Amino acid sequence: MDLKLYDTLTRVKRAFVPLDPANVRMYVCGPTVYDFAHIGNARPVIVFDVLFRLLRHIYGETHVTYVRNITDVDDKINARALRDYPGLPLNEAIRKVTEQTATQFHADVKALGCLPPTHQPRATDFVLPRADGKADMVTLIAQLIARGHAYEAGGEVLFDIASMPDYGLLSGRKLEDQQAGARIAVDAHKKNPADFVLWKQSSADEPGWESPWGRGRPGWHIECSAMSAAYLGDVFDIHGGGLDLIFPHHENEIAQSRCAHGTHAMANYWMHNGFLQVEGEKMSKSLGNFVTINELLATEKFGGRKWEGQELRLAMLRTHYRQPIDWTQNALEEASRALDNWSGLIKGVPAANPSPAMFAAMTDDLNTPLAIAELHRLAKAKDLPVLAGSLSLLGIDLATYNRPLRNSIEGAFDKADEVKAKIEARAVARARKDFKESDRIRDELAAMGVAIKDGKDADGKPVTTWEIAR
Ligand code: AMP
Ligand code: ZN
Repeated sequence: MDLKLYDTLTRVKRAFVPLDPANVRMYVCGPTVYDFAHIGNARPVIVFDVLFRLLRHIYGETHVTYVRNITDVDDKINARALRDYPGLPLNEAIRKVTEQTATQFHADVKALGCLPPTHQPRATDFVLPRADGKADMVTLIAQLIARGHAYEAGGEVLFDIASMPDYGLLSGRKLEDQQAGARIAVDAHKKNPADFVLWKQSSADEPGWESPWGRGRPGWHIECSAMSAAYLGDVFDIHGGGLDLIFPHHENEIAQSRCAHGTHAMANYWMHNGFLQVEGEKMSKSLGNFVTINELLATEKFGGRKWEGQELRLAMLRTHYRQPIDWTQNALEEASRALDNWSGLIKGVPAANPSPAMFAAMTDDLNTPLAIAELHRLAKAKDLPVLAGSLSLLGIDLATYNRPLRNSIEGAFDKADEVKAKIEARAVARARKDFKESDRIRDELAAMGVAIKDGKDADGKPVTTWEIAR
């Protein structure tokens, strides 16, 4: 049971030793809910779902606590609310935007076969001190001020970077580097140009909360320090997110949490997934080179067909999580063929334990490409119960995989001849009033995912049309 994980902070892969094996604790930064999530945003969700499943397998389902937050306070959300609901009071418009987006996100990641995390706190519920006494942002900021790590200036509360001698360990950026390159004039109220915002004032038409520093709203980083402490304590096991969050987001989370709590660590393992990219560039909203999860599932925008959630999941996992992924139709089609093959093999087969090779690959810093190679080997060797168990360790659920859809690649259903022959045979059976036989053929077609409709053509002759059922 020797799980090894790569830790961005110490820059080594090492044995995972939880603080408490009866409660293994993981926090992953979740989405900012202002728009549909793109397939790049799905990468950390899938990667850390795989880790969640592996931890549950090792330590027991009830012995892992996984927290993924929802960021529902952000200036991008305000802008979207003003654009989409110009007639509504801002708070109402914001609530509409965040609720719709969060609902869509949950539907999207469920389709990708991800388990719901143990807790999914929303940032806005953790701004002010809470009735249940869980950690909150205002109290954390007050603690930072009291301990000499933060100061008020220019209508903001800022974290004082110089107060933390080892600031910058995660990203490897030194304080001096940051001073040298910074544009001092813009930030004249800051003691150090790299000091970052914990709290900022809100104007009357911006969302705000009453605080000891006036009506305002929190900076982005303090959210995660509060929500992780609320559910996982001052120090926990694993903190994850995409590579782009290392600096400044995670660096600043570490600074806040360690300085507020007086600890030497915030989390013991820092894990970061690589980017999903398109033609060598990061997929992102700002570059405009993105495709949303919803578009992949529900439209034919990418590759001329809809894709199954399981196809997206498998295509994502064929690359190791720390490597960049090029998102291609080819990879999706390969995933599709593999799922088609496996789903034919394991139908009705009870799951046994994953194979030792499967487990070894997964516990070696989530080596999913090697794990998938092992799935192919198990399929070839017809080791079917072990194949079923190994698929489930990866969260590949073939019960929800809509197999016949894969035949509709680029709109061409490659079983069209077979379907036509069956429809003809059924017409013959109907003509001789053998309805038992015609119903049997209809059921056969339904099992292939084909729905038929009897009607009449322009001349009044009976015709049967067919389509692929979803
Ligand atoms: P955001 O909503 O931009 O804060 O991103 C939510 C999560 O998705 C973060 O963990 C990001 O690191 C991650 N992410 C954003 N774009 C990509 C991408 N192209 N590839 C992989 N992860 C990404
Ligand atoms: Zn975060």
